[in-house]
Amino acid sequence: MKKLIVFDLDGTLAPSKSSLDSEMASLLHDLLGVVRAAVISGGAWLQFERQVLSKLKQDERLANLSILPTCGTQFFQYAGQWTRLYAGDFMTGEKEKIIGSLSSVAIAGFKVEKTWGEAIEDRGSQITYSALGQQAPLEDKEKWDADFAKRKKIKAILDTLIPKFSVRLGGATSIDVTKPGIDKAYGIKKLREILGIEVKEMIYVGDALFPGGNDYPAEEAGVVSIAVRGPDDTKRVIETMIACLNNAG
Ligand SMILES: [Mg+2]
Repeated sequence: MKKLIVFDLDGTLAPSKSSLDSEMASLLHDLLGVVRAAVISGGAWLQFERQVLSKLKQDERLANLSILPTCGTQFFQYAGQWTRLYAGDFMTGEKEKIIGSLSSVAIAGFKVEKTWGEAIEDRGSQITYSALGQQAPLEDKEKWDADFAKRKKIKAILDTLIPKFSVRLGGATSIDVTKPGIDKAYGIKKLREILGIEVKEMIYVGDALFPGGNDYPAEEAGVVSIAVRGPDDTKRVIETMIACLNNAG
């Protein structure tokens, strides 16, 4: 019997940096009525507020939802209001090294013609590089590196420049840099510790479950994983889960 359904956010619950649509919000609310759920993303807390929480029905079922921004280096639970249980941020020297390396990679030939907003974002415990800028239109982002080929090359360079840090591909154009060992497997470990739910009692749903993808560590951590191509796939997965969990109950 599964006790916890863990979701990626960008590309899984919603298109990159976009909000849940009303069908997804309603399905998640139904799911929270039958099982606990968690969302782990490279994104910051503000993104979760905007993309997820503002769209969900505000009721007691939120107590069944855990929110793990920046791959679980932060952890939020709901008890009448959202409360952060912990946060583990970079030190200043570490940030300078990472931001310098990301800037040099951009200069090395991957810099795109047009950008929308800042490309490098400091999220405290994670530095994120968004190739087209953080405010790039979704349409342009989806076209830029749909097969992850450009970012796989960038990751190979970064792995030599900053070998002491973890480099992962996420979103549509983004690359996340964290402390070593901070990836979705870390988030899974935190869920197990804090919720007391074993890995074999979890299911993970994500759109980047291939080697090098930012969901892959969750599968490597031993969680039964379901690969989706986007939110429409995820909706069918949630419907199936609700039906199975209702029958099992
Ligand atoms: Mg994703």
